[in-house]
Amino acid sequence: MEIYRFIFNRLAENTFVVEGERGECLVVDPGSETPSEQQRLERFLESKGLRPAAVLLTHGHMDHTYGVAPIQQQYGCPVYMHDDDKSVVAYFQRVAKFGIPVPDPSFTTTPVSDGELIEAAGLSFKVIGTPGHSPGSVCYYFEEQRALFTGDTLFAGAIGRSDLFGGDYDSEIRAIMEKLMLLDGDIAVYPGHGGSTSIADERTGNPFLEPFNEKEELYDQN
Ligand SMILES: [Zn+2]
Ligand SMILES: [Zn+2]
Repeated sequence: MEIYRFIFNRLAENTFVVEGERGECLVVDPGSETPSEQQRLERFLESKGLRPAAVLLTHGHMDHTYGVAPIQQQYGCPVYMHDDDKSVVAYFQRVAKFGIPVPDPSFTTTPVSDGELIEAAGLSFKVIGTPGHSPGSVCYYFEEQRALFTGDTLFAGAIGRSDLFGGDYDSEIRAIMEKLMLLDGDIAVYPGHGGSTSIADERTGNPFLEPFNEKEELYDQN
């Protein structure tokens, strides 16, 4: 499973194209904001002969959703998002400051829930509900391919802020500790901003999880 990263918009958001089977792909958090960013993404897909079979949204913040409507219009694919982030999408449409472009809201979402298994582009992946950065934040876990897309919940060496609309620190830290940190150490983590990391590296070295940091040997069971 090939994973390609683009860095889009003023917040340097990571947009991932995940290559699946039969020329299909998934687009995780399309943040392409400007026409030239949109073109870069489209030309890339064209050059690889890839057609998006679904858009996966880790949450509804603007920097992760600028490119959603154009993709759905062009490819008619489902856009997966947790329903609890519909209020987030609506909120930022209302409060965006003058001069900051808001995403085209004319996309429809297919709701996902914690623990749900989804198949698309010949790949299967699991939804892990991780509310806190936003009420409907989720991660997408590709067990077979050992890959986890964490959005703004978990970064390399940091965790997502929880002071934005609908955020909640306690839920966030609980979701990270009780769900993400219990996954196998070798799983690669692809966050919504910054470089990639692994569960093992975050479990042992993420300073925001320091009270919980544990020696990796404790998890060496296989
Ligand atoms: Zn966010
Ligand atoms: Zn973000």
